[in-house]
Amino acid sequence: MNLLLRNVRPGGGDPTDVLVRDGRIAGFGPTEADVPVEDGGGALLLPGLVDAHCHLDKTLWGLPWVPNTSGSVLADRISNEQRRRKEFGLPSPEPAAALLDTMIANGTSFVRAHTDVDPELGLSGIEAVREAAARHRGRVTVEQVAFPQGGLLTRPGTLELLERAVASGVENVGGIDPAGYDRDPRGHLDAIFDIAARHGCGVDLHLHDEGPLGAWEIELVIERTKALGLAGKVAIGHAFGICGIPDAQQDRLLEGLAE
Ligand SMILES: [Zn+2]
Repeated sequence: MNLLLRNVRPGGGDPTDVLVRDGRIAGFGPTEADVPVEDGGGALLLPGLVDAHCHLDKTLWGLPWVPNTSGSVLADRISNEQRRRKEFGLPSPEPAAALLDTMIANGTSFVRAHTDVDPELGLSGIEAVREAAARHRGRVTVEQVAFPQGGLLTRPGTLELLERAVASGVENVGGIDPAGYDRDPRGHLDAIFDIAARHGCGVDLHLHDEGPLGAWEIELVIERTKALGLAGKVAIGHAFGICGIPDAQQDRLLEGLAE
C-alpha cells in the first residue's frame, strides 16, 4: 500500500505530510510522490489504538437492543450470560465482525479478545472470533485469550479445552478469580501457568477478588511468573486486589509487578 497523507499532525505537532510505501511510513515532511494522495485536513495523526481487553465472542453489536436481565454479583452475570447466549445465537462471527468493523473505523488496529471456553461451547467461540478476524485481515490484528469464564477446576473438561485452544494457535491462556470463583487459587494458577510454560504462550487473568485476598493472588502470580521466566508475557485484568490493602504492602506489590 502506497499513500501520501497531506496535512496531518503526528502526535498533535505541526501539520506535515506523511509518505507511506509498502504499508510502512517512509518519511515525514512536504514531498511529492507518484502515489495516491489523501488530504488529512489538519487532523490529529496517532498510531493505531490498542484494545487490550475485549469480549468479541459475546458482543450483541448490530443485534436488537437487549435490556439487562442479570443480578448484581459476578456469579449472576456469568450465569445470566450463559443462559441467554443460545437465545442470541452466540458465539457467531457476525456480531464479532460487526464490532471489529466499528473498532477499526474508530482507529483500533490491535485487539486482545478474551474468548469463553467451556465444555458446552468447546472451541466454538475461538473459531467464531477467528472467522471474524479473518474477514478483517490486513485491517486489524486480533489475538485471543482462551478464557474459562464459567470456572476452570470447578468445571471439569475446561482445562483440557484451554490446552487444545493454545495448541491450535491461541496466543494466551486465561483464568478467572482463582479463589473467589474457582475456589482453589494455587491449583488454578498452577494449572494455567503449566500450560503457558509448556506451550510458550502468554497468561491473561481476570482477577476481581478484592482486598488482601486479591493482593495475595497477585503475589502468587508474580511468584509463578518469576519461577517460569514468563516476565512480560503475563497480564492481570481488573486487579481490584491492588486497592484496599495498606500502603506499604501496596508499594511492595507494585514493585513485584514492575519487576
Ligand atoms: Zn473481561
